[in-house]
Amino acid sequence: AAAADVPNEAFVRFDSVQKSYDGETLVVKDLNLDIARGEFLTMLGPSGSGKTTCLMMLAGFETATHGEILLDGTPINNVPPHKRGIGMVFQNYALFPHMTVTENLAFPLEVRKTSRSEIDRKVKRALDMVEMGEFGNRRPAQLSGGQQQRIAVARALVFEPDLVLMDEPLGALDKQLREQMQYEIKRIHDSLGITVVYVTHDQTEALTMSDRIAVFNDGVIQQLATPEDLYERPESAFVAGFIGENNRLRGVVTDIDGKHCSVQLEHGETVR
Ligand code: ADP
Repeated sequence: AAAADVPNEAFVRFDSVQKSYDGETLVVKDLNLDIARGEFLTMLGPSGSGKTTCLMMLAGFETATHGEILLDGTPINNVPPHKRGIGMVFQNYALFPHMTVTENLAFPLEVRKTSRSEIDRKVKRALDMVEMGEFGNRRPAQLSGGQQQRIAVARALVFEPDLVLMDEPLGALDKQLREQMQYEIKRIHDSLGITVVYVTHDQTEALTMSDRIAVFNDGVIQQLATPEDLYERPESAFVAGFIGENNRLRGVVTDIDGKHCSVQLEHGETVR
C-alpha cells in the first residue's frame, strides 16, 4: 500500500529472513533479496540449499522464523496464501484429475468469485497463451506430460497474477520438451510483464531464462548476478563449479609447488 510513497521499492523483498524447521538448524540464513517488478529471478543451487523453503515462505505455506517478506512494499508474513494473489507452478502440484482442462482453469477464478462470462474469457485466453486452445474438454489423463505442464502454467496465469512462482516446473519432462517449455515460459513472461521467481538446480535452465540468478548454497545466497556475470565472473569456487565447466575464476597465483598452485580470488577466497 505504501509502495507509491517509496521510490524504487522492490516488488518482492526478503528482509533478513531466516527459517528453521526444527528450532535449531537454520536452512535459510539471514536472506536479503530484492526482486524488481517484471523481473525473472531464478534461485539456483544444489538440492537442500533452501530454495524451495524460500518459495514456500513467499507463497505463504511456510512462515519465516525471523525477518519479514514484503510484497509491493507491504509485509505479508501474516497474509494467508490465497490472499497473496500469487500464481504457482510446482512439479507435484498436479491438475485435478476428475476435472476437464477448462474446469481446472476455471477453478482458481471460481474461488475468486469471478463472473461466468469473465471466467469463459480468461480461460480461453490462458489456453490460447500456451497454445492448448483445442484441449479444453480433455481430462489430464488424456494429455501428455508436456501438455499437462502447459495447462499447469496456464492455471497459474489464468487469474492474471502479478507474481508467479515456479519450483522445478519442468523437472518431469524430457530434454526436448524442457527446452521447448523454457522458451514458452520465457515468451509468456516477456509478453505479460509478470514477475517470475523460478527455482531450479539446472544451470542451463537458469542461464537461458533469467534476468538475474541467485546462487544458493547451504541456506545463503553465494552470488546474485546476471547470467552473463555469473558465467564470466563467478565470485567463488562454488559458483564457478556449479555454473559450468567452461568457467574462469579470476585471481592471482600466490603459491606454486610441484603439483599445485594456490590462487587468491578477487573476492578473497583462496583455492588450490
Ligand atoms: P532445496 O529447494 O534447495 O532443495 P529445501 O528448501 O527443500 O532446499 O530444503 C532445505 C533444507 O530444509 C533441507 O535440509 C531440507 O531437508 C529441509 N526441509 C525442507 N522442508 C522441510 C520440512 N517441511 N520439514 C523439515 N525440514 C525441511
